[in-house]
Amino acid sequence: MGPLLLACGDHKPLAGVTMGTTGTEAEKELSVYECMAARFDVAARQLQLDPGLTKYLRTPNREIVVHIPVILDTGQLEVFDGFRVQHNIARGPCKGGIRFAPNVTLDEIRGLAAEMTWKCAVVNIPFGGAKGGIICDPQKLSLGELERITRRYTAEILDYIGPERDVPAPDMNTNEQTMAWIMDTYSMHVRHTVTASVTGKPLDLGGSRGRREATGRGCMIVTDQALKRFGRQRQQTRVIIQGFGNVGSQAARLMHEAVYKIIGVSDILGGLFNAQGLDIPTLAEYVKEAKTVKGFKGGESIDNMEILEQDCEVLLPAATESVITSKNAHKIKARILTEGANSPTSAPADDILFERGVFVIPDILANAGGVTVSYFEWVQDRQGYFWPEGMVNERLKHIMVSAFNDVVRYGEKHNVNNRIAAYMLAIDRVAFTVKLRGIYA
Ligand code: NAD
Repeated sequence: MGPLLLACGDHKPLAGVTMGTTGTEAEKELSVYECMAARFDVAARQLQLDPGLTKYLRTPNREIVVHIPVILDTGQLEVFDGFRVQHNIARGPCKGGIRFAPNVTLDEIRGLAAEMTWKCAVVNIPFGGAKGGIICDPQKLSLGELERITRRYTAEILDYIGPERDVPAPDMNTNEQTMAWIMDTYSMHVRHTVTASVTGKPLDLGGSRGRREATGRGCMIVTDQALKRFGRQRQQTRVIIQGFGNVGSQAARLMHEAVYKIIGVSDILGGLFNAQGLDIPTLAEYVKEAKTVKGFKGGESIDNMEILEQDCEVLLPAATESVITSKNAHKIKARILTEGANSPTSAPADDILFERGVFVIPDILANAGGVTVSYFEWVQDRQGYFWPEGMVNERLKHIMVSAFNDVVRYGEKHNVNNRIAAYMLAIDRVAFTVKLRGIYA
């Protein structure tokens, strides 16, 4: 059951995909990779990128497909499919999360891996991009089954990961415990403890202070910067957050503490709305027990897609991809869209949001706080010297504010929206290092 390597697959340009095809019947829902590629193409054209370099940067370096045999608790043998896509290593080792979900596809992982390359370049940290996933339903698996799946997956991709090669992190339905299993499996194989082999670990195993909150904190930092541009105060700012997992719940907690007014939250089972503002600390206590926001008495229940269309200043999708498409983009009333999730907006929806004057803080900028503190974690592990939380948060803020300013200024200079500006800035940085290194033959 060894890994199947697909080197430099031939991902052809997408016929008929333009950034202008919005809201037409002809429009098909684009996949995550197609959305990435559509945006990449626009940015590459603006940059007048060399055609060979365009082809190279549009395509992942390596795609690993594994079929993982696992004995379930019933004693039955089951086989799970898993992926690890390494998009580009021009600026450093690959970096990117691993997600567990029943509907994960190679195409989705391919798109997210490329987005990781751009994200690391936007915040200017020395990593390339990767992403991994396993097709499984974590709700239906015991802790023991999840551990066996994680360890066998790690063993299958072991030759391709490591602190200098590719450093996994948590993503949807994976967490600190998953990272501890990966770190231990890797360490057992190489015969010594390698804490820098993954990030997002528990503190006692070489995790970084501030990592758990980092993505949500980063979302708040860039939202603060957007408010500054609009001359708006936090206390006048109503926020709706989709998703109440790692990113959504931490963003809600931090923004609530910072006196933003959180008027809506949702998770996969449903949404909650309260125009007067939700009591986030009490809601968080409720979620600890109930494992969902649904049923909380401090707000009215609302459909988890309808919640996106409510009147607010800031909409923060922090759940899953493609929740804002050409079908609902014209109904978005938020002034600022802070993309906590990866790829929550489809490429055709970009133009609609832009025309409506929504200030989009694109995912590769807005949620880069996670990978930034992962970078800090990797640095601390390699040094064996750990930083106080205040230092982590201060350095995170410095990087997020600089990246926000870089993207917005780049957009103003080149007269493009924030999304394309972020792509252009990132592609430009990666292309520069590729040119410096040259192509090994
Ligand atoms: P998570 O598994 O901790 O939480 C996901 C949340 O989204 C859960 O509350 C789930 O119920 C909810 N959800 C799923 N489908 C939904 C739907 N259709 N409608 C409403 N809610 C729904 O995952 P996470 O780590 O918080 O990641 C969320 C998103 O943020 C993902 O797109 C992930 O790739 C991205 N992201 C995460 C990090 C990180 O540090 N964890 C960093 C960058 C980006």
